[in-house]
Amino acid sequence: MAVLSGLEPKKVFEYFEILCSVPHGSGNTKQISDLCVRLARELGLRCRQDEVNNVVIWKDASPGFEDAAPVILQGHIDMVCVKTDGCPKDMAAEGLDLVTDGTWVWADRTSLGGDDGIAVAMILAILADDSLPHPPLEAVFTVDEEVGMDGAFALDCSDLKGKKLVNLDSEEEGVFTVSCAGGVRLDCLLPVETAPLDGEIPYAVTLSGLLGGHSGAEIDKGRASANQTMVRTLYSAAERIPGLRLNDIRGGRFDNVICSVNQAVIAVPADQTENFTSFIREFDAILKNEYAGCDDGITLDCQPSGPIETALTPDSTVGVLRTLLAVPQGVQAMNVDFPGLVQTSLNMGVMCLEPDGLHFSLSIRSCIASQKAMLLQRVKAILTLGGGSWTERGNYPGWQYARQSALREDILAAYKAVTGKDGRIEATHGGLECGLFLEKIPGLDAVSAGPELHDIHSPAERLSVASTQRVYQMVREFLAHSKS
Ligand SMILES: [Zn+2]
Repeated sequence: MAVLSGLEPKKVFEYFEILCSVPHGSGNTKQISDLCVRLARELGLRCRQDEVNNVVIWKDASPGFEDAAPVILQGHIDMVCVKTDGCPKDMAAEGLDLVTDGTWVWADRTSLGGDDGIAVAMILAILADDSLPHPPLEAVFTVDEEVGMDGAFALDCSDLKGKKLVNLDSEEEGVFTVSCAGGVRLDCLLPVETAPLDGEIPYAVTLSGLLGGHSGAEIDKGRASANQTMVRTLYSAAERIPGLRLNDIRGGRFDNVICSVNQAVIAVPADQTENFTSFIREFDAILKNEYAGCDDGITLDCQPSGPIETALTPDSTVGVLRTLLAVPQGVQAMNVDFPGLVQTSLNMGVMCLEPDGLHFSLSIRSCIASQKAMLLQRVKAILTLGGGSWTERGNYPGWQYARQSALREDILAAYKAVTGKDGRIEATHGGLECGLFLEKIPGLDAVSAGPELHDIHSPAERLSVASTQRVYQMVREFLAHSKS
């Protein structure tokens, strides 16, 4: 114990070490939630734990701040558990082995959960400090942010009075996030018609060597989706070679990842095999030219395949490919407030042909709710034209940029007072819990900040000690000036 006892702010790292002593991966939060309740009780503070393990703690205003507007301080208590190959730790049952060199804090061979344990530790340290002048405080610790924000979804906000939310789940000091994308997932199914082969020759077609990437962070890089590009390839092949039949097509495992490999099996009319292989060669050159500079490794290849017995009929093949080709992919609109920020996008992350039809899944994102709805409407219209069906899941609200925000000004002033530097306002095409709070608390003003954390969600994750000091000071400075 007490590996971090030499670090400042003392109380913050003391709490951080206590939090890290219990396992707290997403979905395994009962223990850390109970720990937060115990710590609140030790401080004599009122608190509430709900059935999903979210914890809310209240602290009355310090003398002279009784009339100040309450402030919500928020972070998530779950972490992404990853470890190096060969690391024997059972992260579902054991706490972390913390290490520090005085400059950085990390965990031995596992992720640190600085995302977002350091937020919880800072908030607990503020709650524990009776010397700090502050408005009424509402500390909100959510669970399972990392696996779909389940805690924020479930949280009852009706007993929260604050209209100012400081979320401490950002990872770059001096960058203040003020907008995020909302999202929805769509699982789609297109009906198909299968028939025995009629003398066609099977070929395996592979599209590989693509970079892929995260559909929030990397959708603006111009990279190809292997799913969409394979569809385009095969549709173009069928235009040149009538009678082409699809036997299989599959790519991607996650709807929020840009697909990097797609594999298909095609039945080619026996007198067209040479035409087909030369088409693939030509199309490979077209793709290499098109994606030079952003997906240089893109490679389209075909090989004779093992025997197959059935395939989609030629009509069903073209019908399915036509519908898929009409579904847009990638960036749909850029944001005007933040040059370079993607406002609206979608990604066809997963595709596979099964006996009941062609399944594919899309992740749609926008920071503007009505644009997310518009894109959803467009995809559904295309599916309807193609005779397809769909189900929606994981619908979460975005956080549209507020042109006026008193909270943002106050936090920036506090940052400047502590560091002498101007903060930077940014927006993200990823998701944040703030969107859910904005939906539940009308009139909420919000900002997201945090200390410098590198390589989150990996065993290389590390937290800057000096940055933690500055961000902690910034929050204290902000609270000490929140008298109105
Ligand atoms: Zn986080």
